[in-house]
Amino acid sequence: MQMEKLIQKINKISDEIGREVRLMEVCGTHTQAISRFGIREILPKNIKLITGPGCPVCVTAQRDIDAIVNLSLAGIPVATYGDLLRVPGYFGSLNEARENGAKVFDVYSVPDALEIQKSHPDLVFFGLGFETTTPMTAWGIKNGLIVYSTHKIFLPAMQALLEMGEIRIDGFIDPGHVSAITGVKPYKKLKVPQVITGFEMKDVLKGIFLLLNQIKNNNLKVINQYSRVVKNEGNKEIRKIIKDVFEIEDGLWRGFGVIPGSGLKIKDKYKECDAKIRYKNILDKVDFSHSGEPKGCGCERVIRGLMEPKECPMFGRVCVPDNPVGPCMVSVEGACRSMIQIRE
Ligand code: SF4
Repeated sequence: MQMEKLIQKINKISDEIGREVRLMEVCGTHTQAISRFGIREILPKNIKLITGPGCPVCVTAQRDIDAIVNLSLAGIPVATYGDLLRVPGYFGSLNEARENGAKVFDVYSVPDALEIQKSHPDLVFFGLGFETTTPMTAWGIKNGLIVYSTHKIFLPAMQALLEMGEIRIDGFIDPGHVSAITGVKPYKKLKVPQVITGFEMKDVLKGIFLLLNQIKNNNLKVINQYSRVVKNEGNKEIRKIIKDVFEIEDGLWRGFGVIPGSGLKIKDKYKECDAKIRYKNILDKVDFSHSGEPKGCGCERVIRGLMEPKECPMFGRVCVPDNPVGPCMVSVEGACRSMIQIRE
């Protein structure tokens, strides 16, 4: 289908629905794509795209940021992905810790971290993200990498959003990369129209059209529009690697607090590689009573889709990509950062 034709069809079906429709994208890469292609701007006025908790850096709890910063300040070398270094915590960011003499390394991959471990045997890798980044961390642990795990399972967060009922969600644009691992089946437990789609402009528009079509016809399906990458059964081999290394526990999310069954803990058989056990003596001494939201920052509400970035008084004034107040302005997948890109 040609792009213009697709847009015409979206306009027509939106008119036929005749009410406001709220669709949430729950994948940071979709958030980026929607901003990059200006998709919000070309949709009819009654179709609202809301950004959900799909940015791994944004949903990493302040307590975990404070924990890793404290480990680095206590002299433990730390490595993680670049964006995370800039997230401000109560004790500063990892970047600031580095300026104060801590050994902090930004890496592109788990093999990079393993390479650094050769010269820094105590190195702790701060593992974050969902089903897409977890397999590499699991592989690192199997190869002796010490990890502070904040890895999360994505589906319980979608479930929590629906159960909390704070906002109306008429449909989800499901995460494409995560779905390639999980497959289609897990989403079926959510009683809301859903579409799994890719990241090209045409993919996203097609996904929106398929959701609107479901909404118009009162269907509750999970449509896999990204079958060139996402197989119905997902990737069993990768899930096996995750299951060998991690077990499910309750997970701590920024914006939500604890979501039952959404966290991944390193199994006992790899406890030598679990930084939370290995450095328990340091972590037990950290005062986490201040590990809340930075003053005035609305990231917790932005992450749950309750507030648009531009509603935050600091957006684009005090809080900018070079001086982020909250994590949603740090990562390119963050709601605030992706919105500011439109203005730039
Ligand atoms: S604009 Fe900055 S301070 Fe406001 S919610 Fe976003 S990240 Fe937080």
